[in-house]
Amino acid sequence: MFTLPNLPYDYSALEPYIDEETMRIHHDKHNAAYVDNLNKALILLAVGLEEKLSIKYKPLLDLNLEKMLESINEFPEMLRERIQNNAGGHANHSFFWKIMGSPDSGDEPSGKLLDALNFTFASVEKFKEEFTNKAIAVFGSGWAFLIKKPDGTLALKRHSFQNSPLMHGNIPILGIDVWEHAYYLKYQNRRADYIQAWWNVVNWKQVEDNLNEALGSK
Ligand code: MN
Repeated sequence: MFTLPNLPYDYSALEPYIDEETMRIHHDKHNAAYVDNLNKALILLAVGLEEKLSIKYKPLLDLNLEKMLESINEFPEMLRERIQNNAGGHANHSFFWKIMGSPDSGDEPSGKLLDALNFTFASVEKFKEEFTNKAIAVFGSGWAFLIKKPDGTLALKRHSFQNSPLMHGNIPILGIDVWEHAYYLKYQNRRADYIQAWWNVVNWKQVEDNLNEALGSK
């Protein structure tokens, strides 16, 4: 069973760029719903195991969120999409809360992260521009991510709905939620304005930690 951790900061910590009400609804309602629905799907899997499903599915019940997404194709087809959407939703949002923080921190990309961005995108400014364009171009509900691929290189990737980079063997380093629920209260249909504002609340220290961890993991 999964639980919803508290936000790592106050609901108002990202003001004025992301408003308190959006954060309350986004975390307490949307993220909570992914957790609830993931748990319900796992209960269905457990019940199914007792009744008729193959015993080979049993180890899937004990996986953590990341492994669950990496192993998504091993889930029985009747539950796969539901688990993909809700495990993905919970993983993406848990990740998203951490890579944001107070706009007052004033931190910027540094260390290995700065080197990697310069190497891959020529400059931090160029990276921000390409990432922004990627996020603007997500059609409908989805995410834009900076990922680390299995070969160790960085790339930008769009995902629809709550699909996770982990499902494709990639590790998310930075990502932005461009579902309308992430910005509509304050920015209405102006997704580009939301993305521009969002850069002010990126927690670059966490992004650098994500990269270091990803590079150490494979
Ligand atoms: Mn969201």
